[in-house]
Amino acid sequence: MEILKTSDLPPLGADPSRTYRLGIMGGTFDPIHNGHLVTAEQATDELHLDLILFVPAGQPAFKQERNVSPAEDRLAMTLLATAANPKFMTSRLEIDRPGITYTADTLQELRAHYPQNVELYFITGADALLEIVTWKDADKLAEIATFVGATRPGYDLEKAHAELEGSSIPFKVHYLEVPALAISSSDLRARQQQGRSLRYLTSDEVIGYINKRHLYE
Ligand code: NAP
Repeated sequence: MEILKTSDLPPLGADPSRTYRLGIMGGTFDPIHNGHLVTAEQATDELHLDLILFVPAGQPAFKQERNVSPAEDRLAMTLLATAANPKFMTSRLEIDRPGITYTADTLQELRAHYPQNVELYFITGADALLEIVTWKDADKLAEIATFVGATRPGYDLEKAHAELEGSSIPFKVHYLEVPALAISSSDLRARQQQGRSLRYLTSDEVIGYINKRHLYE
């Protein structure tokens, strides 16, 4: 059996007569939780993705002011949470790239790596996508990938559409409503700080890791 290192990119695209779909799950994952996992599973199902690469951000572009947990801890938790699903892989691509993490750099690297019969789907929270027109190289992003915005119940989709329609860049965006996204990383951090239970909001392995590393205390 082939064991992939987190620095390897999983193989995809071998058969030139068919199209493959790679999901790229972008986020800070501080910590990863069941809402993220359900999002990835739902995206796999609805968009017929062959594989999802979870890519924890190294130094998130819009989070310079908040204390984010060390990248290696966020990576370790992501690995623990995704290990059991054969379609989920975790990558240290963004963690190993020095400097601020820009999605454009990641997508360009993946586009150069995979053959053209592999389509790229970048999945993240719909709130993050609201600002996509301000991201670095926004026009290139729109050429390279389809964007998938995961929404929490009650999310204002009209607002999201209006933001993107007002832009001259032709983004391809698909929205997914994910009830499990009532769970949020900020809520998990607050619960841990208050000594409340995280059970069933994220995996037992991730909870064990948080306790062992004294994260969010
Ligand atoms: P964020 O602002 O922390 O998240 C916005 C919302 O989306 C939060 O409610 C968050 O919930 C949710 N969310 C984040 N990732 C998600 C995922 N994969 N699936 C479902 N919900 C998700 O967002 P961020 O983590 O800073 O950025 C998200 C992604 O966009 C990252 O890959 C980041 O690198 C990229 N980004 C790129 C640029 C750029 O290139 N200039 C700028 C901003 C963001 P939780 O807190 O519960 O996750």
